[in-house]
Amino acid sequence: MMTEPLLLPCPFCGSPDLAWHEEYERSGAYRSRMSIMCGCGVKMMTEHWNSATKALRNSQRNAIRARWNNRAAIENLDDE
Ligand SMILES: [Zn+2]
Repeated sequence: MMTEPLLLPCPFCGSPDLAWHEEYERSGAYRSRMSIMCGCGVKMMTEHWNSATKALRNSQRNAIRARWNNRAAIENLDDE
């Protein structure tokens, strides 16, 4: 079994219970689009449909994981 790289918990509700979702469409060739979904309603998806080859699906997955895990610093919340 391959070890899945870590996804950080949801930045809105804190849940670690996140689901990968993949949608397919067929317009000529199969195309796919990946998303990460949280039970609180957050969904982050790739902007574009890509050919559903294994290499492109893996690169989509890596790209969206990196985006999901990217967190802006939150400062000055205690100032008010
Ligand atoms: Zn959430």
